[in-house]
Amino acid sequence: MTQPFMKPAPKNPVLRTPQLNLPPSARGRVALGLTAAAAEGRFALQVCAECGAVQYPPREACHRCLSPDLPWQPLDGAGELLASTTLAHSNDLYFRERLPWRLGMVRLDAGPSVMVHLHGDAAAQQALPCRVQVQARLDRSGLAVLVACPEKGTPNMADDPLLREMASDPRYRKVLVTDGKSAVGQAVVHALVRAGADLVWVGHAEPWKQLPGPAGSGSAGSGPAGSGLAGLAALPQVSLVPLDVTDERSVSTLAGRIGGKVDIVVNTAELHRGFGIAARRGTDVAKAEMEVNYFGLLRLAQCFGPALKGRAADGATHATAWVNLLSVYALANFPAHGTFSASKAAALSLAQCLRAEMQPAGIRVVNVFPGPIDDEWNQNLPPPKLAPAALASAIVQALRDGVEDIYPGDVAQEWRQRWRHDPKVLERELAAGGL
Ligand SMILES: [Zn+2]
Repeated sequence: MTQPFMKPAPKNPVLRTPQLNLPPSARGRVALGLTAAAAEGRFALQVCAECGAVQYPPREACHRCLSPDLPWQPLDGAGELLASTTLAHSNDLYFRERLPWRLGMVRLDAGPSVMVHLHGDAAAQQALPCRVQVQARLDRSGLAVLVACPEKGTPNMADDPLLREMASDPRYRKVLVTDGKSAVGQAVVHALVRAGADLVWVGHAEPWKQLPGPAGSGSAGSGPAGSGLAGLAALPQVSLVPLDVTDERSVSTLAGRIGGKVDIVVNTAELHRGFGIAARRGTDVAKAEMEVNYFGLLRLAQCFGPALKGRAADGATHATAWVNLLSVYALANFPAHGTFSASKAAALSLAQCLRAEMQPAGIRVVNVFPGPIDDEWNQNLPPPKLAPAALASAIVQALRDGVEDIYPGDVAQEWRQRWRHDPKVLERELAAGGL
């Protein structure tokens, strides 16, 4: 049985911080389809459009009929573990540091047999063959690998070292939430504290202006009762820190103070105004949105990124993840919120750059694409709207699942499907006033 993960003892500051060795990351172009699905938490394999044969490993042409038409389709990963073995030696540095390592061979109900990493509780006591559930998970290199878990959940299943390594569970970790004044920021802080975060630094841009509740309080769907910055500050795990993401000095000062201790950054700072182009003269509002949504992310990434990268192998609660609060409007411009959409599209592009730069250090960049949030800036939009608490729960779950991109809420899910189907059709629908 998996032992519950206990809070590690404080580290000896004199000892050298270990460097991270990454697992093997060479993949062909076709095989990246597995990673694309795993990045959103799905298990998908190629299924031949001609004859229906399920393919593994990923390939260019069907193994049965040679058809090149092999779309990726979500599948259930249930199967039978046929054999298992335990590695006691490896020439690969990553595995060498983590021996012994269990591997297995699973015959999927969908057809193919696959090599998997084995969860500690999978077939620990049962005779083979036995039922398992195969998942595609992102490893520290950010690439999909197959993991077989017990068919039924076991106590402390997520605490297995194999799964912990591939996820970014906030438990016992130190987290920076960049803006605690918004309803979303406060909901995120509460969710992180509930998830067992050791310490949550909460940024607030104007420390002299203490608001009693969330910014623009009174809006529907704001944070939990009794929240607000004062409510947050009363929590023993929470520490308020001055942070203005539009001010480089403010960001670098805070990074100098706490940058070497942060394990997870959750960038909730955003500025949202509901204007298109013609509705407002001048560029002041658009510039202000860019200052927070785009340049704010850039400043944070420059100041906090290197420190995170340096601590990617620092003990059991090493630096692990960077979360960006983007918007589904980043995929296609929503003209009623045109300049906001443009700033989020810029932030998405930058977040992709950040992900590419953080990947060699094993730090996961998680992009969050919510639909309209239930706040004052989306007051005129019809429901369904995403409650800040639901968004916060989705963020914590994404960290626990080790995924890269999430689309919380019904609207975001639907946009994602429409965008995937045809971005041009979505653009025209939005231009015609559809949501
Ligand atoms: Zn075929």
